Amino acid sequence: MIVMKFGGSSLATGERIRYVTDLVLRSHSRAPVVVVSAMGGVTDSLIGIARLALQGRKVLSSVEEHLGSLHERHLTALAEVADGAVALRVREEIDNAFVELREICTGIALLGELSPRSIDAVSAYGEKLAAPIVAAAIEARGHRATPVSAEELLLTDANHGRARPLIPASRVRTRERLLPLIEDGIIPVVTGFIGATEDGITTTVGRNGSDYSASIFGALLGAEEVWKWTDADGILSADPREVPGVQPLPLLSYAEAAELAYFGSRVLHPAAIVPAVEAGVPFRIVNSFNPDHPGTLLTRDPETSPHAVKAVTAIHDLALVTVQGVGMAGVIGAAARVFGAVAQVNVNVLMISQASSESNICLVVPAADLPKVEIVLRQHLAEQLNRHEVDHVATRTPVAIVTVVGSGMAGTPGIAGRLFSCMGANGINIVAIAQGSTELSISFVVDDEQSLAAVRSAHREFVEDLS
Ligand code: ASP
Ligand code: MG
Repeated sequence: MIVMKFGGSSLATGERIRYVTDLVLRSHSRAPVVVVSAMGGVTDSLIGIARLALQGRKVLSSVEEHLGSLHERHLTALAEVADGAVALRVREEIDNAFVELREICTGIALLGELSPRSIDAVSAYGEKLAAPIVAAAIEARGHRATPVSAEELLLTDANHGRARPLIPASRVRTRERLLPLIEDGIIPVVTGFIGATEDGITTTVGRNGSDYSASIFGALLGAEEVWKWTDADGILSADPREVPGVQPLPLLSYAEAAELAYFGSRVLHPAAIVPAVEAGVPFRIVNSFNPDHPGTLLTRDPETSPHAVKAVTAIHDLALVTVQGVGMAGVIGAAARVFGAVAQVNVNVLMISQASSESNICLVVPAADLPKVEIVLRQHLAEQLNRHEVDHVATRTPVAIVTVVGSGMAGTPGIAGRLFSCMGANGINIVAIAQGSTELSISFVVDDEQSLAAVRSAHREFVEDLS
């Protein structure tokens, strides 16, 4: 059994959905379970409509108009993929869904209240509308398929907007509902993104959550693999917009993928694959435009590869903040004070470095957040600045973090040496460095204007030269 996940852009139109059915049916003999997102852009539209409705009775005609065009879009897609009795049946389902959506939006307008629970109720319709259309498209090709709402499968907590599945109960429900279908040769088309509480209240697992859903279903069903269909030959060795000669990576461990994803690769959110990781189900990234290509297989165990470094990435538009003071050495709680302050203004810290002299702490944050970070640090460190424990808070922007990733670096001496000699040879100035003790990646900060040159020369040194 293969769990196959299709995202919104693969389902943007009836024509794209017909193509999705080709991809599903190519693997018919491997018992596909299909997991779908909403049609492209629909979740955003639904949330926009719910927010609009919040403005009250006076906007109801405009809400009606927006719902009308979404309704139209789904009917058009349906007409492009199916006709006859199947189309009639699904048309009725779509019509009913829009009756319900109108009622919910009227409720929001009259009450003037939009709770996270209502947002979940509204945004879940994107997937609930897409699944029957995809199932109809498969049926139109002469194969049996049935849409299944994950409200029946995934039992979650009531943390609306970011609900967490309760695994044992979800496992029982999912297997009881889907395994008999699969045994009968019926392809289940399951909604991603959504679940329900014990009381049957609809929940969602977080924006772009369909990958996560697919990974969970793969785990619950003990699938052979989970496939995420995208528009590239898997995870690439660098961003093709930045580096010439990028290569798809055939094999990657989950841990390597996580390093890559954290450092700006857009293909996959690392948290999404955790359920599959834990169940030992490999997760494959495949290209819908090149379905014969094996893509990237993410597995639990790192493979032995001649490439110590597999990939190079950069995150741009960042700021380096250095809290400096000879008086900080040996002061307990200095780091806690710095990071506590930054957390208070809700800023994500992307990299940290502190030398053993303890006389400075460097952190890297998004450049856009720099003003509030500077203010909050000066406030929180006022006393230390007064006492000259801290001499100053220096900033440097725009900078970029360049990261090289590969499990082969662990225990291989000389990689850092090669990396930094290569930077030196290319005239690139390193501003700060960090390496985790897992040795899976080395990150360093450069001025943003040197980041492209840094990524390209590291890629040339470690990835291209070996192929
Ligand atoms: N449709 C949902 C969203 O747009 C889930 C997904 O696309 O994965 O957030
Ligand atoms: Mg989406």
